[in-house]
Amino acid sequence: MKIKTILLSVCTALLFSSAPAMAKDIKIGMAIDDLRLERWQKDRDIFVKKAESLGAKVFVQSANGNEETQMAQVENMINRGVDVLVIIPYNGEVLSNVIAEAKREGIKVLAYDRLINNADLDFYISFDNEKVGELQAKSLLERVPEGNYFLMGGSPVDNNAKLFRQGQMKVLKPQIDSGKIKIVGDQWVDAWLPENALKIMENALTANNNKIDAVVASNDATAGGAIQALAAQGLAGKVAISGQDADLAGVKRIVAGTQTMTVYKPISKLADEAAQIAVKLGKGETPESNSKLNNGKKDVPAYLLTPLQVDKSNIDSTVISDGFHKKADVY
Ligand code: BGC
Repeated sequence: MKIKTILLSVCTALLFSSAPAMAKDIKIGMAIDDLRLERWQKDRDIFVKKAESLGAKVFVQSANGNEETQMAQVENMINRGVDVLVIIPYNGEVLSNVIAEAKREGIKVLAYDRLINNADLDFYISFDNEKVGELQAKSLLERVPEGNYFLMGGSPVDNNAKLFRQGQMKVLKPQIDSGKIKIVGDQWVDAWLPENALKIMENALTANNNKIDAVVASNDATAGGAIQALAAQGLAGKVAISGQDADLAGVKRIVAGTQTMTVYKPISKLADEAAQIAVKLGKGETPESNSKLNNGKKDVPAYLLTPLQVDKSNIDSTVISDGFHKKADVY
Protein backbone atom coordinates (compact mmCIF):
# COMPACT_ATOMS: atom_id res chain seq x y z
CA MET A 1 0.00 0.00 0.00
CA LYS A 2 2.67 2.39 1.04
CA ILE A 3 4.76 1.74 -2.08
CA LYS A 4 1.66 2.25 -4.20
CA THR A 5 1.06 5.65 -2.58
CA ILE A 6 4.68 6.67 -3.11
CA LEU A 7 4.56 5.58 -6.74
CA LEU A 8 1.35 7.51 -7.24
CA SER A 9 2.81 10.71 -5.83
CA VAL A 10 5.96 10.30 -7.95
CA CYS A 11 3.79 9.93 -11.04
CA THR A 12 1.72 12.98 -10.08
CA ALA A 13 4.87 15.01 -9.49
CA LEU A 14 6.24 13.95 -12.87
CA LEU A 15 3.00 14.88 -14.56
CA PHE A 16 2.95 18.33 -13.00
CA SER A 17 6.62 19.03 -13.58
CA SER A 18 5.88 19.38 -17.31
CA ALA A 19 2.70 21.28 -16.61
CA PRO A 20 3.76 24.87 -15.77
CA ALA A 21 4.59 25.91 -19.36
CA MET A 22 1.24 24.61 -20.58
CA ALA A 23 -0.85 25.72 -17.67
CA LYS A 24 0.54 29.23 -17.53
CA ASP A 25 -2.05 31.70 -18.79
CA ILE A 26 -0.56 34.04 -21.34
CA LYS A 27 -1.58 37.58 -20.46
CA ILE A 28 -2.08 39.84 -23.46
CA GLY A 29 -2.54 43.61 -23.35
CA MET A 30 -4.30 44.93 -26.46
CA ALA A 31 -3.85 48.68 -26.94
CA ILE A 32 -6.24 49.92 -29.64
CA ASP A 33 -6.03 53.35 -31.23
CA ASP A 34 -9.70 54.02 -31.57
CA LEU A 35 -12.70 51.84 -30.84
CA ARG A 36 -15.02 54.58 -32.08
CA LEU A 37 -14.45 53.33 -35.65
CA GLU A 38 -16.52 50.35 -36.75
CA ARG A 39 -13.67 48.20 -38.00
CA TRP A 40 -11.69 48.12 -34.74
CA GLN A 41 -14.63 46.78 -32.77
CA LYS A 42 -14.63 43.79 -35.09
CA ASP A 43 -10.88 43.34 -34.66
CA ARG A 44 -11.23 43.40 -30.89
CA ASP A 45 -14.13 40.95 -30.73
CA ILE A 46 -12.51 38.37 -32.99
CA PHE A 47 -9.05 38.73 -31.45
CA VAL A 48 -10.29 38.36 -27.87
CA LYS A 49 -12.47 35.36 -28.69
CA LYS A 50 -9.65 33.52 -30.45
CA ALA A 51 -6.99 34.36 -27.85
CA GLU A 52 -9.28 33.22 -25.05
CA SER A 53 -10.01 29.98 -26.88
CA LEU A 54 -6.25 29.43 -26.85
CA GLY A 55 -6.20 29.88 -23.10
CA ALA A 56 -4.93 33.47 -22.97
CA LYS A 57 -6.32 36.35 -20.96
CA VAL A 58 -6.79 39.62 -22.84
CA PHE A 59 -6.96 43.09 -21.38
CA VAL A 60 -8.17 45.70 -23.92
CA GLN A 61 -7.92 49.50 -23.88
CA SER A 62 -8.83 52.12 -26.48
CA ALA A 63 -6.98 55.43 -26.67
CA ASN A 64 -9.77 57.11 -28.67
CA GLY A 65 -7.27 58.70 -31.00
CA ASN A 66 -5.05 60.24 -28.32
CA GLU A 67 -1.33 59.65 -28.30
CA GLU A 68 -0.70 60.42 -24.60
CA THR A 69 -3.60 58.22 -23.55
CA GLN A 70 -2.21 55.36 -25.58
CA MET A 71 1.26 55.70 -24.05
CA ALA A 72 -0.24 55.72 -20.54
CA GLN A 73 -2.34 52.65 -21.36
CA VAL A 74 0.70 50.73 -22.61
CA GLU A 75 2.63 51.71 -19.43
CA ASN A 76 -0.28 50.46 -17.39
CA MET A 77 -0.26 47.13 -19.23
CA ILE A 78 3.48 46.77 -18.59
CA ASN A 79 2.85 47.38 -14.88
CA ARG A 80 0.11 44.77 -14.87
CA GLY A 81 2.71 42.25 -15.96
CA VAL A 82 1.38 41.25 -19.38
CA ASP A 83 3.45 38.75 -21.37
CA VAL A 84 2.58 40.20 -24.77
CA LEU A 85 1.58 43.65 -25.99
CA VAL A 86 -0.57 43.85 -29.11
CA ILE A 87 -0.58 47.45 -30.28
CA ILE A 88 -2.67 49.23 -32.90
CA PRO A 89 -0.82 52.52 -32.69
CA TYR A 90 -2.48 55.90 -33.04
CA ASN A 91 0.88 57.46 -33.81
CA GLY A 92 3.41 54.99 -35.13
CA GLU A 93 6.30 57.37 -34.47
CA VAL A 94 6.14 57.92 -30.72
CA LEU A 95 6.14 54.52 -29.06
CA SER A 96 9.88 53.64 -29.21
CA ASN A 97 10.55 54.43 -25.54
CA VAL A 98 7.59 52.68 -24.05
CA ILE A 99 8.32 49.64 -26.20
CA ALA A 100 11.96 49.68 -25.07
CA GLU A 101 10.64 49.62 -21.52
CA ALA A 102 8.41 46.64 -22.30
CA LYS A 103 11.33 44.79 -23.86
CA ARG A 104 13.43 45.36 -20.72
CA GLU A 105 10.65 43.60 -18.82
CA GLY A 106 10.81 40.66 -21.24
CA ILE A 107 7.45 41.49 -22.82
CA LYS A 108 6.91 40.54 -26.47
CA VAL A 109 5.50 43.20 -28.79
CA LEU A 110 3.25 42.62 -31.80
CA ALA A 111 2.30 45.58 -34.01
CA TYR A 112 -1.22 44.98 -35.26
CA ASP A 113 -2.36 46.31 -38.66
CA ARG A 114 -0.15 49.43 -38.38
CA LEU A 115 3.61 49.34 -38.16
CA ILE A 116 5.40 51.11 -35.30
CA ASN A 117 8.56 52.85 -36.46
CA ASN A 118 11.97 52.87 -34.74
CA ALA A 119 10.93 50.33 -32.16
CA ASP A 120 12.16 46.89 -31.17
CA LEU A 121 9.13 44.96 -32.39
CA ASP A 122 8.97 41.18 -32.33
CA PHE A 123 6.41 40.87 -35.09
CA TYR A 124 4.05 42.75 -37.41
CA ILE A 125 0.76 41.49 -38.78
CA SER A 126 -1.28 43.33 -41.38
CA PHE A 127 -2.59 43.31 -44.92
CA ASP A 128 -0.51 44.24 -47.94
CA ASN A 129 -1.20 47.94 -47.52
CA GLU A 130 0.49 49.15 -50.67
CA LYS A 131 -1.75 46.77 -52.57
CA VAL A 132 -4.78 48.42 -50.88
CA GLY A 133 -3.75 51.75 -52.39
CA GLU A 134 -3.19 50.19 -55.81
CA LEU A 135 -6.67 48.65 -55.80
CA GLN A 136 -8.23 52.00 -54.88
CA ALA A 137 -6.47 53.93 -57.65
CA LYS A 138 -6.97 51.24 -60.31
CA SER A 139 -10.66 51.08 -59.69
CA LEU A 140 -11.05 54.86 -60.00
CA LEU A 141 -8.93 54.99 -63.16
CA GLU A 142 -11.13 52.38 -64.81
CA ARG A 143 -14.08 54.65 -64.25
CA VAL A 144 -12.38 58.00 -64.72
CA PRO A 145 -9.42 57.56 -67.11
CA GLU A 146 -9.08 61.32 -67.54
CA GLY A 147 -9.91 64.29 -65.35
CA ASN A 148 -9.32 66.05 -62.06
CA TYR A 149 -8.35 63.91 -59.08
CA PHE A 150 -8.38 64.92 -55.44
CA LEU A 151 -6.18 62.95 -53.04
CA MET A 152 -7.59 62.45 -49.56
CA GLY A 153 -5.01 60.66 -47.43
CA GLY A 154 -5.60 59.08 -44.04
CA SER A 155 -4.15 60.09 -40.70
CA PRO A 156 -0.72 61.67 -41.22
CA VAL A 157 0.67 59.76 -38.21
CA ASP A 158 -0.53 56.33 -39.38
CA ASN A 159 2.17 54.44 -41.27
CA ASN A 160 -0.55 52.66 -43.25
CA ALA A 161 -1.81 55.95 -44.61
CA LYS A 162 1.62 56.45 -46.18
CA LEU A 163 1.63 52.94 -47.63
CA PHE A 164 -1.85 53.43 -49.12
CA ARG A 165 -0.61 56.62 -50.74
CA GLN A 166 2.47 54.88 -52.13
CA GLY A 167 0.27 52.25 -53.73
CA GLN A 168 -2.13 54.87 -55.10
CA MET A 169 0.71 56.90 -56.62
CA LYS A 170 2.29 53.84 -58.19
CA VAL A 171 -0.86 53.51 -60.29
CA LEU A 172 -1.61 57.20 -60.81
CA LYS A 173 1.90 58.49 -61.60
CA PRO A 174 2.04 57.35 -65.26
CA GLN A 175 -1.36 58.95 -65.91
CA ILE A 176 -0.28 62.17 -64.20
CA ASP A 177 2.94 62.23 -66.22
CA SER A 178 1.07 61.72 -69.47
CA GLY A 179 -1.29 64.58 -68.53
CA LYS A 180 -4.39 62.40 -68.57
CA ILE A 181 -5.20 63.11 -64.99
CA LYS A 182 -4.50 66.19 -62.92
CA ILE A 183 -4.10 66.24 -59.14
CA VAL A 184 -6.10 69.26 -58.01
CA GLY A 185 -5.50 68.87 -54.29
CA ASP A 186 -3.88 66.70 -51.67
CA GLN A 187 -4.87 66.61 -47.98
CA TRP A 188 -4.51 64.21 -45.04
CA VAL A 189 -7.38 63.59 -42.64
CA ASP A 190 -6.46 63.89 -38.96
CA ALA A 191 -7.41 60.78 -36.97
CA TRP A 192 -9.27 59.42 -40.02
CA LEU A 193 -12.41 61.21 -38.78
CA PRO A 194 -15.37 61.67 -41.15
CA GLU A 195 -16.06 65.17 -39.87
CA ASN A 196 -12.54 66.24 -40.83
CA ALA A 197 -12.95 64.66 -44.27
CA LEU A 198 -16.22 66.52 -44.74
CA LYS A 199 -14.56 69.89 -44.16
CA ILE A 200 -11.62 69.06 -46.41
CA MET A 201 -13.97 68.04 -49.23
CA GLU A 202 -16.09 71.17 -48.85
CA ASN A 203 -13.00 73.34 -49.16
CA ALA A 204 -11.65 71.32 -52.10
CA LEU A 205 -14.92 71.71 -53.98
CA THR A 206 -14.98 75.44 -53.36
CA ALA A 207 -11.34 75.85 -54.40
CA ASN A 208 -11.98 73.96 -57.65
CA ASN A 209 -15.42 75.34 -58.53
CA ASN A 210 -16.77 71.82 -58.05
CA LYS A 211 -14.61 70.57 -60.92
CA ILE A 212 -13.46 67.32 -59.36
CA ASP A 213 -14.01 64.02 -61.17
CA ALA A 214 -12.54 61.53 -58.72
CA VAL A 215 -11.62 61.43 -55.03
CA VAL A 216 -8.96 58.99 -53.87
CA ALA A 217 -10.27 58.47 -50.33
CA SER A 218 -8.24 56.01 -48.30
CA ASN A 219 -11.02 54.44 -46.23
CA ASP A 220 -14.78 54.26 -45.85
CA ALA A 221 -14.97 56.54 -42.82
CA THR A 222 -13.31 59.42 -44.68
CA ALA A 223 -15.18 58.58 -47.92
CA GLY A 224 -18.40 58.92 -45.90
CA GLY A 225 -17.50 62.44 -44.82
CA ALA A 226 -16.44 63.42 -48.33
CA ILE A 227 -19.64 62.02 -49.86
CA GLN A 228 -21.70 64.19 -47.50
CA ALA A 229 -19.92 67.23 -48.91
CA LEU A 230 -20.43 65.97 -52.47
CA ALA A 231 -24.13 65.37 -51.78
CA ALA A 232 -24.56 68.93 -50.57
CA GLN A 233 -23.45 70.05 -54.05
CA GLY A 234 -25.59 67.48 -55.86
CA LEU A 235 -22.46 65.58 -56.84
CA ALA A 236 -22.83 62.32 -54.92
CA GLY A 237 -22.79 59.48 -57.44
CA LYS A 238 -21.34 61.74 -60.12
CA VAL A 239 -17.85 61.89 -58.64
CA ALA A 240 -15.99 58.58 -58.39
CA ILE A 241 -14.68 57.89 -54.89
CA SER A 242 -12.79 55.01 -53.32
CA GLY A 243 -12.84 53.57 -49.80
CA GLN A 244 -11.58 50.76 -47.63
CA ASP A 245 -12.78 48.41 -44.87
CA ALA A 246 -16.10 47.30 -46.37
CA ASP A 247 -17.84 49.09 -43.48
CA LEU A 248 -21.58 48.43 -43.62
CA ALA A 249 -22.22 52.11 -44.40
CA GLY A 250 -19.61 51.99 -47.18
CA VAL A 251 -21.05 48.87 -48.78
CA LYS A 252 -24.54 50.41 -48.64
CA ARG A 253 -23.24 53.51 -50.40
CA ILE A 254 -21.83 51.29 -53.14
CA VAL A 255 -25.25 49.73 -53.58
CA ALA A 256 -26.82 53.21 -53.64
CA GLY A 257 -24.23 54.32 -56.21
CA THR A 258 -22.63 57.15 -54.21
CA GLN A 259 -19.35 55.31 -53.52
CA THR A 260 -17.43 53.56 -56.29
CA MET A 261 -15.59 50.84 -54.41
CA THR A 262 -14.16 49.69 -51.13
CA VAL A 263 -11.35 47.36 -50.17
CA TYR A 264 -12.37 44.34 -48.17
CA LYS A 265 -9.81 43.08 -45.72
CA PRO A 266 -11.09 39.92 -44.03
CA ILE A 267 -10.68 41.06 -40.43
CA SER A 268 -11.48 37.61 -39.09
CA LYS A 269 -8.34 36.24 -40.76
CA LEU A 270 -6.21 39.07 -39.43
CA ALA A 271 -7.53 38.95 -35.87
CA ASP A 272 -7.51 35.16 -35.74
CA GLU A 273 -3.96 34.91 -37.03
CA ALA A 274 -2.86 37.72 -34.72
CA ALA A 275 -4.26 35.93 -31.68
CA GLN A 276 -2.33 32.79 -32.59
CA ILE A 277 0.85 34.80 -33.15
CA ALA A 278 0.44 36.63 -29.83
CA VAL A 279 0.01 33.37 -27.94
CA LYS A 280 3.05 31.87 -29.69
CA LEU A 281 5.13 34.92 -28.81
CA GLY A 282 3.97 34.62 -25.22
CA LYS A 283 5.14 31.02 -25.15
CA GLY A 284 8.52 32.01 -26.53
CA GLU A 285 7.87 30.40 -29.91
CA THR A 286 8.69 31.92 -33.31
CA PRO A 287 5.60 32.64 -35.44
CA GLU A 288 5.70 31.91 -39.16
CA SER A 289 6.28 35.00 -41.33
CA ASN A 290 5.81 35.64 -45.06
CA SER A 291 7.43 39.06 -45.29
CA LYS A 292 9.55 41.58 -43.45
CA LEU A 293 9.36 45.34 -43.18
CA ASN A 294 12.08 47.68 -42.06
CA ASN A 295 10.79 50.06 -39.39
CA GLY A 296 13.94 52.19 -39.14
CA LYS A 297 15.33 50.09 -36.32
CA LYS A 298 15.22 46.57 -37.72
CA ASP A 299 13.71 44.24 -40.27
CA VAL A 300 10.53 43.22 -38.51
CA PRO A 301 9.25 39.74 -39.39
CA ALA A 302 5.76 40.15 -40.75
CA TYR A 303 2.71 38.24 -41.84
CA LEU A 304 0.78 40.06 -44.57
CA LEU A 305 -2.67 39.10 -45.82
CA THR A 306 -4.26 39.88 -49.19
CA PRO A 307 -6.86 42.67 -49.58
CA LEU A 308 -9.74 42.40 -52.07
CA GLN A 309 -11.42 44.99 -54.24
CA VAL A 310 -15.19 45.25 -53.80
CA ASP A 311 -17.61 47.10 -56.05
CA LYS A 312 -21.24 46.62 -57.06
CA SER A 313 -20.37 43.53 -59.11
CA ASN A 314 -18.92 41.37 -56.34
CA ILE A 315 -20.50 42.39 -53.01
CA ASP A 316 -22.36 39.08 -52.79
CA SER A 317 -19.37 36.88 -53.55
CA THR A 318 -17.11 38.65 -51.05
CA VAL A 319 -18.42 40.39 -47.95
CA ILE A 320 -21.77 38.61 -47.93
CA SER A 321 -20.62 35.09 -48.73
CA ASP A 322 -17.91 35.52 -46.11
CA GLY A 323 -20.52 36.42 -43.50
CA PHE A 324 -18.84 39.82 -42.96
CA HIS A 325 -22.25 41.46 -43.52
CA LYS A 326 -25.74 40.04 -43.76
CA LYS A 327 -27.52 40.33 -47.11
CA ALA A 328 -30.54 41.83 -45.38
CA ASP A 329 -28.38 44.57 -43.85
CA VAL A 330 -26.69 45.48 -47.14
CA TYR A 331 -29.73 45.56 -49.45
C1 BGC B 1 -6.42 50.77 -41.26
C2 BGC B 1 -7.72 50.98 -42.00
C3 BGC B 1 -8.62 51.92 -41.20
C4 BGC B 1 -7.87 53.16 -40.75
C5 BGC B 1 -8.69 54.00 -39.81
C6 BGC B 1 -5.78 52.09 -40.97
O1 BGC B 1 -4.56 51.95 -40.35
O2 BGC B 1 -5.56 49.92 -42.00
O3 BGC B 1 -8.35 49.76 -42.23
O4 BGC B 1 -9.71 52.31 -41.95
O5 BGC B 1 -6.66 52.83 -40.14
O6 BGC B 1 -8.95 53.38 -38.64
